[in-house]
Amino acid sequence: MRKKPYLCTLKNMHTMQSNEEISILVLYTGGTIGMMQDPKTGALVPFDFDNIYTHLPVLKNFGYQIDFYSFDPLIDSSNMSPDFWVRLATKIGEEYEHYDGFVVLHGSDTMAYTASALSFMLENLNKPVVLTGSQLPMGMVRSDGRENFLAAIEIAAAKDEDTSIVPEVSIFFQNQLLRGNRATKFNAENFNAFISSNYPNLADVGVHIKYNKERILKPNFKKLKVHTNMDRNVGILKLFPGISEDFVRHVLKTPHLSALVLETFGSGNATTAEWFLAALKEAIDGGLLILNITQCKAGSVEMGRYETSLDMARIGVISGHDMTTEAAVAKLMYLVGEGLPKPRILEIMQNSIRGEMTL
Ligand code: ASP
Repeated sequence: MRKKPYLCTLKNMHTMQSNEEISILVLYTGGTIGMMQDPKTGALVPFDFDNIYTHLPVLKNFGYQIDFYSFDPLIDSSNMSPDFWVRLATKIGEEYEHYDGFVVLHGSDTMAYTASALSFMLENLNKPVVLTGSQLPMGMVRSDGRENFLAAIEIAAAKDEDTSIVPEVSIFFQNQLLRGNRATKFNAENFNAFISSNYPNLADVGVHIKYNKERILKPNFKKLKVHTNMDRNVGILKLFPGISEDFVRHVLKTPHLSALVLETFGSGNATTAEWFLAALKEAIDGGLLILNITQCKAGSVEMGRYETSLDMARIGVISGHDMTTEAAVAKLMYLVGEGLPKPRILEIMQNSIRGEMTL
């Protein structure tokens, strides 16, 4: 689709014309996937994508035009921030017309947050943005990074006629393509590190890539709109038996706090202690948005199912349905950042706008 030199450009002269017309931009943010062992010191150092042909010669066989862009500095994703999301979304916005798809190489630790944030920041996305990473550095013999990277490229390039097959923000990890705002990292060491319990896989990769087309968002062919005003004053409060009034009240009084994800038990339940409900009510009356998200990895909040969630509904805590915590935080940052009036935010929170919840 375009020819613009970045860090390096790969092109295979021996493959089909149609593939050569497809262009992918790989955005490298950091994380394990982009590391290799320094042959001299044995320490892990960032991979030099200028030499990717040497390390991954099979990449040529795709025949796509693949450009690379590295962020500076590269970061461990534990240092990910809304500022970085703004840089990432802005870069995708700037390059949007020049490429058929985007692959984001990212540390796995906060990948689900970034995927969620991008899904809200990139409105009218009609091209694939596939995030991937690995548990072992690409430069290690047994790395999962090579397969993840190659499959992510293939998925980002996949089209039916002229339309991308997966025109949404997704995460590819160990044979599974998941909707980005439905995924959660659940395993710190297995190659199979992500789950999407409340939404089926967008694709499964084995001998073939089997796309679950019914479940993939459809393109709307509207112009991409990049939203960059993410509100930073969003918090998470995870409940546990014995949580103290002092602690809860301190959290609720955090200066400038605009929205809070309340991680509750089971189907959205919490203590019925009077002080707890009084503290939440005071905060809500003072303008705070409180969203009920379950601590469970699967299933949905159902406010009113038990007595222990009925009162929260009554005082104005809103249901996050089956959203992940990552998606909830990102959606609140996005909506509050847009400066929408509170009733409008409450309304949008009850609707799925990027496939982030099941209603
Ligand atoms: N700590 C690393 C990161 O998230 C782990 C990984 O790359 O998967 O950046």
